[in-house]
Amino acid sequence: MTAIHARRREGVAALLSAREADAILVSRAVNVRYLTGLVSSNAAVLVRADATAVLATDSRYAETARAVCEGVEVVEERDVAAALVSRASRVAVEAHHMPVADYFRLGEGLLRTTGLVESVRTVKDETEIDLLRTACAITDQAFADVLPMLRPGLTEREIARVLEARMAELGADKPAFDTIVAGGPNGSVPHHSPADRPLERGDLVTMDFGAMYAGYHADMTRTVAIGEPASWQRELYDLVRAAQRAGRHAVRPGAATHEVDAAARDVITEAGYGGHFGHGLGHGVGLEIHEEPFLFPVTPEPRREHGRLDDRVPVTVEPGVYLQGRGGVRIEDTLVTREDGPELLTRTTKELLVL
Ligand code: ZN
Ligand code: ZN
Repeated sequence: MTAIHARRREGVAALLSAREADAILVSRAVNVRYLTGLVSSNAAVLVRADATAVLATDSRYAETARAVCEGVEVVEERDVAAALVSRASRVAVEAHHMPVADYFRLGEGLLRTTGLVESVRTVKDETEIDLLRTACAITDQAFADVLPMLRPGLTEREIARVLEARMAELGADKPAFDTIVAGGPNGSVPHHSPADRPLERGDLVTMDFGAMYAGYHADMTRTVAIGEPASWQRELYDLVRAAQRAGRHAVRPGAATHEVDAAARDVITEAGYGGHFGHGLGHGVGLEIHEEPFLFPVTPEPRREHGRLDDRVPVTVEPGVYLQGRGGVRIEDTLVTREDGPELLTRTTKELLVL
């Protein structure tokens, strides 16, 4: 792993001269992990323009840091930011993370950057894609194992618990995020928290969950039918499935993020359900469950900038249609952009499963 972390630090160092910085003080824990391998709640790393690095952490993590962070000078200090800012002259900080109080306390002349390490993190190396592949395989297997247990009477909360327990047994660090289980009418709430409602025959049940493995987050959603579905349920499912397929096929290096969103959204809009698909099509995954790039439509006042997908970028494609009082359908996969077509990481069937 050491060579990989050194290469990542070189990627960050290469961006510093354009910002007229001699070094960047990286304080976001997820970015420290990305650049050094150290998992810590109190660490920061200073990466200089020549790609040398100093890491500061307190006594709880210092021993691990010396073992893990090869090629990085380690200093033991509780005030990690203060310990590092004096070690270069023009130091950039992560303005999207550093507390305002720290920014003023650490003295004048700090440069502000936003999302610099995150921009390097967007394109994954094959080591990261391997870890994500494992996270997704655990997710697929947990779903397959839990599926035979789904029956009327089981509550949303019980389903969430068994999914999460199964992922842990299969080697997950923990759930990648709070598991969503939404049965029957609850399916119209995209991020419904599992409650005590028991499954009933005639329900569509949406399960959105994933495993975290070695820090990498899988994300998958499947909607299944408890008992023979009504015709409107099957039609809704087929529509979302067609939209999801169109979205997946639009995922390729060079594609504009809003065009990928549109490929799926147009299918839903043309069927008359455009007003029932309120969220973006998907998001990047990696060391965070939601990270760049975000796939969302063009709006009159863009909140974020639209970009283009690169090669080796994991994203989710997750269209849904939500009908208040009736229920909903969402289908989500995690996939990776590849020059010769996207690599599907979550491989559970998208046929409508009737249980
Ligand atoms: Zn999800
Ligand atoms: Zn997602």
